[in-house]
Amino acid sequence: MNILVINAGSSSLKYQLMDPDTGVVTAKGLCERIGLDGKLTHKALSKGTKVEKDIPMPTHKEAIEAVMNILVDGEYGVIGSVDEIDAVGHRVLHGGDKFVESCIVTEDCKQAIRECIPLGPLHNPANLMGIEACEKAMPGKPQVAVFDTAFHMTMPPKAYRYAIPTKYYTDDHLRRYGFHGTSHRFVSKRCIELMGGVENAHRVIVCHLGNGSSLSAVKDGKCQDTSMGLSPLAGVPMGTRSGDIDACVVQFIMNKYGMSADECLTMLNKKSGVLALSDGVSSDFRDLDAAAAQGNEAAQLALDKFAYEVRKYIGAYAAALGGVDCIVFTAGVGENSGSMRASICDGLEYLGVKLDAEKNKLRGEEVVISTSDSKVKVWVIPTNEELMIAQDTAELTK
Ligand code: ADP
Repeated sequence: MNILVINAGSSSLKYQLMDPDTGVVTAKGLCERIGLDGKLTHKALSKGTKVEKDIPMPTHKEAIEAVMNILVDGEYGVIGSVDEIDAVGHRVLHGGDKFVESCIVTEDCKQAIRECIPLGPLHNPANLMGIEACEKAMPGKPQVAVFDTAFHMTMPPKAYRYAIPTKYYTDDHLRRYGFHGTSHRFVSKRCIELMGGVENAHRVIVCHLGNGSSLSAVKDGKCQDTSMGLSPLAGVPMGTRSGDIDACVVQFIMNKYGMSADECLTMLNKKSGVLALSDGVSSDFRDLDAAAAQGNEAAQLALDKFAYEVRKYIGAYAAALGGVDCIVFTAGVGENSGSMRASICDGLEYLGVKLDAEKNKLRGEEVVISTSDSKVKVWVIPTNEELMIAQDTAELTK
């Protein structure tokens, strides 16, 4: 089976063609500069070839057409015709409180995604453009929308309500939604499988630590709480996002520096986080590690603060879940940085967490990194959001 997985941004579009049963990716690539000029980078993994092409992409439609053409190309293609694509799965950022799971794209589904635009103003319009471009380029091809928020919809009101007047919830739908849901679902499900069933993994804390980071508390496979909120700005500090912050800081900065709310939010989203704490060294954790090793104190502070805030969330979620059976690390930092995993777990011994220093050196594979007598099993499980999207798409369009 061939599922085309699409992640459309405002000026870019990532794609992967994969078999949902085996997870084998035959081709993947990226369209960039949509609306400006247009560039396609394509890798035919089954052939071991790579190509870059300048192709005019005034809209997402031309980008999708370029993807279709390269997938069937004599030299760089991996399929004989577009008919060999069984269905298309789309990553959609915000499903609001309308979507508790993935769904087949219909007019009603598109309308609901449109109604969520005020909640995801940057991503949802782009996600819709991706869906509509596929409709035009491949009329009649089944399509599925997979929402970043859906996995978190099992949170109870005490976790998702903000303690502000009710009308903002009832009239405006302001509440905690959470993101990276496809990753949290994939990784928690995989952890439960690897542990031999939910009876051995009742209470799982997933730490998705990448450029964007979020944690979730999962009980019996269902999300109970998560660190991001109405938007991905909340929770732990990230590459360039501040994470949780006292709202009065925003008011102070706006008043003193004459900044608008949008300008202030851009600063909190794009110029904050470990980039800011390291005094501009980098938003990339590898650069921070290198700078800290050279004695850069600001870079060290950024790393320490990140580990401290993640550790605090783990403590909070252990309390919320009434204990913890498994902690799972995933995404760029979580999968690769043994030193960050060690700093985060340093001080969690009271919870029953004991890391195995040797196993913790392993990277990018499914592995237990706690000692055999550690009460809490600590896992590294590489995430695969595209595979989850492909599996949902295959399941719904069977
Ligand atoms: P995104 O949120 O963009 O999907 P990723 O999950 O790809 O992000 O994570 C990117 C982050 O992972 C970067 O900050 C990068 O520095 C970090 N990372 C990747 N490999 C390592 C490593 N070996 N050590 C430390 N950090 C790493």
